[in-house]
Amino acid sequence: TEFISANDLSSLMDVSVNEVIKVCLNMGMFVSINQRLDAEAITVIADEFGYDVEFLSAEEEDTVIEVEDNEEDLQPRAPIVTIMGHVDHGKTSLLDYIRSASVAKGEAGGITQHIGAYDVMTKSGKRVTFLDTPGHEAFTAMRARGAKVTDIAIIVVAADDSVMPQTKEAINHAQAAGVPIVIALNKIDKPGANPDKVREELSVINVLVEEWGGKYQSQEVSAKTGLGIDDLLEKVLLEAEILELKANPDRNAIGTVIEASLDKGRGYVTTILVQTGTMRVGDIVLAGPHFGRVKAMTDHRGKKMKTAGPATPVQVLGLTGAPQAGDKIQVMETEREARELATQRQQLAREQSMRTKKHITLDEIGRRL
Ligand code: GDP
Ligand code: MG
Repeated sequence: TEFISANDLSSLMDVSVNEVIKVCLNMGMFVSINQRLDAEAITVIADEFGYDVEFLSAEEEDTVIEVEDNEEDLQPRAPIVTIMGHVDHGKTSLLDYIRSASVAKGEAGGITQHIGAYDVMTKSGKRVTFLDTPGHEAFTAMRARGAKVTDIAIIVVAADDSVMPQTKEAINHAQAAGVPIVIALNKIDKPGANPDKVREELSVINVLVEEWGGKYQSQEVSAKTGLGIDDLLEKVLLEAEILELKANPDRNAIGTVIEASLDKGRGYVTTILVQTGTMRVGDIVLAGPHFGRVKAMTDHRGKKMKTAGPATPVQVLGLTGAPQAGDKIQVMETEREARELATQRQQLAREQSMRTKKHITLDEIGRRL
């Protein structure tokens, strides 16, 4: 169900969706915000904004040999969750509460560091992985790069406020990506909280909650007191169960880069999310135009790890550069192979940056639809 909508295209080009729609109208094309655009339309619209579009074929996008897994090798994996919603409705507070509650439960020592992703154990003993990327821009950017990392979206709405433009946008993004939604009605501790008003507003945009006979799970929570947060996580797990998320831990790891930076003492530090397979210290990896040997891995508490299986966020040391968020990272058999591919990609990037036109890149999905 993945596709590029007028909305996606507008954020890729950093213009408002209204401008895109207006330009379409001028050309006699009637498009709505979330309508899927075909390759022809994308090319024409982008051109109007001075962009030239390159469609990457599946082969170019994944130099990786995507070995098909046998059903019997697949094992259940943890869900990967993104929290989205309007500014000030409590995304950061919710992420912080969930993270600190899990730190308090065990794991002595270790200063919690912000690494863009973390995983927690729920009360029922199941693991949930959270992507902690600023807003949904990262979500959109990653998706535009062909990286689908989120399994489930928690949409936060402050119960003392209303469904806001960014709430709708977040819902649209999740729906466009075919990602199930769980609604968190936050700030329930506040005297002015009126969750029914929010449920009502949600129903107006066709998001009918279960209590009212709809299909969307919702949970009243307080990111301040922690009220309802365990229940919220259980609802996320219920959604995950339906998805039957599985991966093969017994293969070379493939994952996605969440963020990367250069640390004075440690060199390039890359936060990745392993999606399938198991990454090990000593593995040779290729990530976008960079490669390296995994020197060390740590979790979000700074704890050293020797291996990282499916749906595990991990900080990796040892890359020769900083790849971009959304770049694929994969374990390679030989260093020579990794170096060659990295060099090829660097060359390609150089050539592209020499072009004068602004440039956007879409994966094959955009062309197919
Ligand atoms: P974000 O912009 O969505 O990341 O929102 P923040 O997490 O930064 O929260 C915005 C403000 O609301 C902050 O002042 C928080 O302390 C406050 N806040 C967030 N969640 C709650 C809550 O459940 N109850 C109360 N009373 N305040 C909250
Ligand atoms: Mg925030």
